[in-house]
Parts: sequence; C-alpha cells; structure tokens
Amino acid sequence: MEERLQKVIAEAGIASRRKAEKMIVAGRVKVDGKVVTKLGTKVETFSNITVDDEPIERESLHTYLFYKPRGVVSTADDDKGRKTVVDYFEDVPCRLYPVGRLDYDTSGLLLMTNDGKLANLLMHPRNEVSKVYVAKIKGILTPDEIKTLTTGVKLDRFKAAPAKVKILKTDKRKDTQIIQLTIHEGHYHQVKRMFKAVGHLVEKLSREKYAFLTLDSLTSGQYRELSKHEVDKLM
Ligand code: URA
Repeated sequence: MEERLQKVIAEAGIASRRKAEKMIVAGRVKVDGKVVTKLGTKVETFSNITVDDEPIERESLHTYLFYKPRGVVSTADDDKGRKTVVDYFEDVPCRLYPVGRLDYDTSGLLLMTNDGKLANLLMHPRNEVSKVYVAKIKGILTPDEIKTLTTGVKLDRFKAAPAKVKILKTDKRKDTQIIQLTIHEGHYHQVKRMFKAVGHLVEKLSREKYAFLTLDSLTSGQYRELSKHEVDKLM
C-alpha cells in the first residue's frame, strides 16, 4: 500500500500538505534513511520517514479477517457504484485494502489490512499461501478430470500448480457436485478457470480457509481483527 509522501506527513499532523511539500523540496525529509526531494514520491505503509531526523508517527497497523458476502466488489472503489468490501469497515481507525481479490459473486475469507508489508508478502507468488475453496460445480468430475486438476491443469497461458481435490457431495439427480479445492496460487478467476478447463461451470464459490485462518463463527458481512500472534504467524 503506497501513499504519497506529502500526504503521509500531513496525516501524521506534522504540517499541512503544502508545508509538507516545502519540507520535502528543502531536503528535510528522509525515507528509510535517504533524503527524498521529489514531490509525489510514493512510500509504503512500513517505510521509515523522518522530518529533520525526527521519526514521524505513522498510522498503527491493523489486519482484519472478513467474511465477504456474495454481491460485493473487492476493491476500494467501484466505478459502477456497487457495494465494496471497504463499506463494511466504517468503524475502524484506518483505511483498509483487501489482500488479493475475491470475485463479485464469490463469498468467504478475505483479509483486509493497512499493512503494506504484510499484503505484499502474502500476495507474492513465491510465498504460496494455501487457500481452500468450496465450489458447487455443474456436472460430476470424472477420475481423469480429477487427475488433471491434481497434476496441474493447463489454463490459457500457464499451467496451474497441482491442486488438492476432495469431493464433499455428489447430487446425481441435479447433476451437481460440491468440491473442496486447495490451491496456492491466486490468478484472476483461477478456480473458475480450472474447473472450466476440465469442462465444468462453477455455480457457487466460497473461500473457506486462507493459510491457517478459517471463518470460524463469523457470519457473512462480519469481521474480526487478527491478533498480533496471528499476524506474526502469517509473516
Ligand atoms: N478463483 C475464482 O475463480 N474466483 C475467486 O473469487 C477466487 C478464486
């Protein structure tokens, strides 16, 4: 999560934005130990900022586990004016951003944070956070299709890493199945694309688990703040 340097200084209550700009140009501001004189420089939530070598007080860091309802967008603003995940956090002391995305019609576990370092870490492909999804699919998976998913299904431009597949329920009469799918990647529409690649439409999707975190007793639209211990464990 990056913000403009002059905004961060102004929000810390040091000076107005205009005065903060003058301080920057005058070489009085350092970011992580280096003088920055360029206006509009973007800084991370975790960057260390000093004015005249005095550290400025940054917003404290908060991370929430949110049960995203279906029919809500996972961005801070929506150009179509739809309800966003941020709308659920009116009473928190900071501006939050989602860690990754869930589709408009996907429900389930979404982390919301103002901790840029944590967000970057969790979203970095190298870190392979495991995510457990439950999908209601049209049709019934064949053993070959399961094998394709568990060995790595080919999507448009890449091959998905092997997934774990568990059949939770089969309804032969309605020709649907409920599947638990565990993956470590987070590409756009990944779960829907994986099922589509083996010939099945996802009718309903929810994320039940993210790393070691589950929704526990939260109901749709509710959230709880993560403890320091939980945040440390995610790092
Ligand atoms: N995969 C999808 O297809 N959609 C989501 O929202 C999350 C993962």
